[in-house]
Amino acid sequence: MRIGVLAVQGSFSLHARMLNAIGVKPVEVRRVSDLKDLDGIILPGGESTAFQIIMNTDDLGDQLHRKLQSGLPAWGTCAGAIILGHNKDGPLPGWSLVDIEVVRNGYGRQVDSFVAPLKVSGMAGDFQGVFIRAPVFLNPGQEVDVLAEFKDDPVMASQDNLLMTSFHPELTSDTRLHEYFVQHFCVRSDLGDKKSA
Ligand code: GLN
Repeated sequence: MRIGVLAVQGSFSLHARMLNAIGVKPVEVRRVSDLKDLDGIILPGGESTAFQIIMNTDDLGDQLHRKLQSGLPAWGTCAGAIILGHNKDGPLPGWSLVDIEVVRNGYGRQVDSFVAPLKVSGMAGDFQGVFIRAPVFLNPGQEVDVLAEFKDDPVMASQDNLLMTSFHPELTSDTRLHEYFVQHFCVRSDLGDKKSA
C-alpha cells in the first residue's frame, strides 16, 4: 500500500505522520514521477492558490488531475478540498471533480478558527473537527454523499474515488479518518486497472 501526500506546501508532514501511525507507508509527492504506483493520495491543508501555482510550474498539476479523473483515490483536507470542488471565488478555479461548491475562507479568517465535535456517518462517537480558514461546502449534487455536517452544511463529503473534509484530522491524534480513507477508498479490488489508466 503506497499512499501519496502532496508535499508542495502545507500540512503534508502531519498527514505522513498519521499514515505512519496506522502502518501505511506515505510517499511525499513533489514531482510527476512520485505519482507512479500510488494506491491513493492526500491533498493536505495549506493554501490552495499556492498549491495550484506550484503545481502549474511543471506538469504535476495536469498529471495529478488526470490521475484523479481516472479513479486514483484522493482525500482533500481544507485547501486540498478546495481544489477538488467547484471553487469560483479563488484566483484559480477548482477542478470540479466533486459536484459541490466550496467557498474559500467561508468560516472566517485565522482568528475565527475553531474546534467542533462532529458526527461522522458510520463512526461511533464524535470526531473533533479542527477548522482553520476552512471552506464552506454548499449545494452538494446528487452524486455526492454527505458524511458529516456542521450547522446543517456539509463538512465531509465524497463522490466516487474522492473524499473531502473542510477540517484538519491531521491536527488531532485521532487516526480514524485516515483509516477510513485507506479502508474505504484505497483498498479496492479494481485498483490495478485504475492505476494503469
Ligand atoms: N483558506 C485556505 C485556502 O484558501 C485553506 C486553509 C487551510 O487549508 N487551512 O486555500
